[in-house]
Amino acid sequence: MAASSGSGGQWETQCLNCGTALQGHYCYRCGQRAGPHERSIKALCGDFFEMLTHADSKFWRTIRRLALSPAALTRDYVEGRRMSEIPPVRMFFVVIIMMFAVQSFIPSRQVVTAIKVDDRAQTAGQVEGWQLAGHPRITAWVHRHVSAAVRNPQEVVAVMREWSERFVLLLLPLSSGMLWLLFLWPGHRTLYEHVIFTVHSLTFTFAVFTVAVALSQALGDMAWWLLWWPPFHLYRHMRGFYGSSRLGTLVRMAVLLGMSLLAVGILLSALSLLSLQLGTQEAG
Ligand SMILES: [Zn+2]
Repeated sequence: MAASSGSGGQWETQCLNCGTALQGHYCYRCGQRAGPHERSIKALCGDFFEMLTHADSKFWRTIRRLALSPAALTRDYVEGRRMSEIPPVRMFFVVIIMMFAVQSFIPSRQVVTAIKVDDRAQTAGQVEGWQLAGHPRITAWVHRHVSAAVRNPQEVVAVMREWSERFVLLLLPLSSGMLWLLFLWPGHRTLYEHVIFTVHSLTFTFAVFTVAVALSQALGDMAWWLLWWPPFHLYRHMRGFYGSSRLGTLVRMAVLLGMSLLAVGILLSALSLLSLQLGTQEAG
């Protein structure tokens, strides 16, 4: 191994990333830290272990601030104090990936196969007997797809899972838009700032949900009590970041809840129709 390439644990004289001559511990051109760059599995494991265990690492500090003082975290970010926290969008995607990973460990097949096969045939027969008001083509669609779904639910559940992951991402623009509407007055925050607020808020909510799902496997229904945390968190986050009054915050939260329920209702309906359509295609 050539010593000049900076391998092993030696300090290099040129930035390994862009080749600029180094002055000090960071490249002034691209910002990469100067060596020594360890190239071993042991060093990789060490980095990972340090991130998880070192209580004052950027990772845990950001998580702690997000949980306990979210308004200060969001304010610091939009006002440009960014070095000491994980970028919001990166954290958001890490939490989303963890959320889906945790859910994928909980088998949907268990739920689906719990329904007895002869019961399914019977239910499918009942569905075909449904009398629906409306256009006969709609009735035919419902009959065909719902009874196919009852006979073979695995496929529908799989499609539903896949699309729910895509739909979750829609929550970001939807919620940002709602906040923008709700804070048109006093209007001192920009759309960009609402988006950052939303990213932080959704990250927290998804993280709590993920922890609750994971804990519910061990503790049972008790774990769902955790879901009381996000509303209180949102209240403090909004009050702190937007500087709204107690009443102003509560009224906005109520309107936000109403709009969110409406949006989630529309999304869930779309998701059900889509899953029925795509999950029972070969049956149609
Ligand atoms: Zn460089």
